[in-house]
Amino acid sequence: MGVLDGKVSLVTGASRGIGRAIAIALAEAGSDVALNYLSSEGPALEAAKMIQALGRKAEIYKANVANPAEDDEMVSKIMDDFGTVQIVVNNAGITRDKSFLKMDRPMWQDVIDTNLTGPAMITQRLAQPMMEMGWGRIINITSVVGAMGNFGQANYASAKGGLISLTKTLAREFARKNVTVNAVAPGFIETDMTSQVPDKALDQIRSLTPLGRLGKPEEVAAAVVFLASPAAAFITGSVIDVNGGMYM
Ligand code: NAP
Repeated sequence: MGVLDGKVSLVTGASRGIGRAIAIALAEAGSDVALNYLSSEGPALEAAKMIQALGRKAEIYKANVANPAEDDEMVSKIMDDFGTVQIVVNNAGITRDKSFLKMDRPMWQDVIDTNLTGPAMITQRLAQPMMEMGWGRIINITSVVGAMGNFGQANYASAKGGLISLTKTLAREFARKNVTVNAVAPGFIETDMTSQVPDKALDQIRSLTPLGRLGKPEEVAAAVVFLASPAAAFITGSVIDVNGGMYM
C-alpha cells in the first residue's frame, strides 16, 4: 500500500531532471501520473514506461505551459484519460540568464511566462474540480533564488519569488475546500539546468553550501511526496527548502 494509492498527479516538465524524479517518486508512492513535457518526447516516454512498470498508469502530454491554448488542450486530454487530477506539481521551468542591464524583453518575458504565469494558469484550470472534490494538493517548485536573489537572474528570481507569493495567496483562497498549496525551494541540484554552470562557479556553490555538495533530484522529489501525502494534511502556504543549508 502506498500513501498515494488511488490518486492522480500531473507533473509539468516531467521528461528530465527534477520533474522526472518527482513523477517517478509519486508513482512509487502509489499515484497514477500524467507527465507533461515540451520537446523531450523520448525521455518523457521512458519515464512513463518506468512508471507503468511500477504498476501505475502513466501518459505523456506535449504542451508549452506558457501557452494558454496548449494548457487547455492538455488539461482536457488528461481529464478524458484519467477522469480527475488531485495532485498538481508545477515544476517546468527555464533560465535565460544575463546581467539585468543587458537582459532584453524576450528573456524577461519567456522566464516569467514559463515559471510564473504557466503555473498560475494550470492551477486555475485544475483547482476548481479539486475544490468540488474537497481534496487537492498543489505543489509549486520555486527556487532558493526566489528568496535570496542571484546575480544574472533578475527574471528567474522575480518569477520564483512571485511563485512563492502565489503559493501563499492560493493557500489562503483554497484552504476552505481542503486544497493545500505549498512550494518546494531547491538549492542547486544536479540536472541539465546546472550542467552548464562553470566548474569554478560550482566550486563556489559547494563552498557556500553547509552540506558541501549539490542536491539530487530525488531529494527534491521526497519533499514533494511528503507534501502530497496525508501526513502533510495540516501544511499549507509553506515553502520547504531543499538546499543543503545554503539559505536559511
Ligand atoms: P531541467 O533539467 O532543465 O528540466 C526542465 C524540464 O522542464 C524539462 O522536462 C523540460 O521539458 C520542461 N520544460 C521547460 N520549459 C517548458 C515549457 N515551456 N513547457 C513544458 N515543459 C517545459 O530543469 P530542472 O533542473 O529539473 O528544474 C526543474 C524545476 O526546478 C524548474 O522549475 C527549476 O527552476 C527548478 N529548480 C531547479 C534547480 C536546479 O539546481 N536544477 C534549483 C532550483 C529550482 P523538455 O525536456 O521537453 O524540454
